[in-house]
Amino acid sequence: TDQRFVGKVLVITGAGGQFGRAACRYFGERGARVAALDQNAEALEGTFAEISDGMDSKGFVCDVTNASQVASVVERIVERFGRIDLLWNNAGYQGKIQSCLDYDPLDFASVMNINVTGMFIVLQAVARQMKQQGGGVIVNTASVAGMRGTPGMIAYASSKAAILTMTVNAAKELARFHIRVNSISPALIGPGYMWDRQNALHAELGPPYYADTAEKVGEAKINAVPMQRVGSLEEVLQSTAFLLSSESSYTTGINLVVDGG
Ligand code: NAD
Repeated sequence: TDQRFVGKVLVITGAGGQFGRAACRYFGERGARVAALDQNAEALEGTFAEISDGMDSKGFVCDVTNASQVASVVERIVERFGRIDLLWNNAGYQGKIQSCLDYDPLDFASVMNINVTGMFIVLQAVARQMKQQGGGVIVNTASVAGMRGTPGMIAYASSKAAILTMTVNAAKELARFHIRVNSISPALIGPGYMWDRQNALHAELGPPYYADTAEKVGEAKINAVPMQRVGSLEEVLQSTAFLLSSESSYTTGINLVVDGG
């Protein structure tokens, strides 16, 4: 069995969402002690309703854009678990799906605030704790949108591009404190509500998909993938686990792309 995470204290943000919820189970089942953060209390409860009772985990309602809240939650995590070994900095907001000609500047600002500033606030607060302890590992969730753009999602794509650079920058600064920082960039992941939502909204948007149903948009996207399929949550978690584990001990500042080619 997988011993890589036994006894490790892992902080996961966005723990009420589809990646975060699956991650709480995945790492919890492998013996990690999970501090699960989300601003949505109900979603967080849903996560805890699904993960097994034997796990040493606790949920914290926390808005990642609020620096004083994040600082106090990190303090409470350290009180409860004693330390923080690993961080999956994963909370995010997709924003609207609109042409860049129409995109709402207020929504643009809010996407940047959650995805970039919020991710930075958590990274900073947790890295301070890791430095005191003598090390740690951080994985930031970016997206292939940040590397090649996604039609209708100019705010999201811009925010994810910023995360790629934030990751490299933090990796360079924190290496001397034995803190590794990498990012993961998933592409088409499904099935699930994200896949459905994007395809439905892309069907409404039109270019460059020019298909009138979510199903046809989905087919067009899959046709452009060399592996001819979407990726699974499990495949995202396996790559995240690699970066969080000591198997990647000489790797920092990279972006691991999970996109089927
Ligand atoms: P999701 O919407 O299911 O989950 C995101 C979670 O983040 C939600 O529970 C939400 O409440 C939380 N959140 C949002 N703003 C927050 C804030 N200010 N403070 C605290 N929590 C906040 O999304 P997901 O599919 O699980 O995606 C997780 C991450 O993966 C995101 O960063 C997303 O951009 C990225 N991603 C997802 C896909 C995909 O196909 N699902 C692909 C590439 C990248």
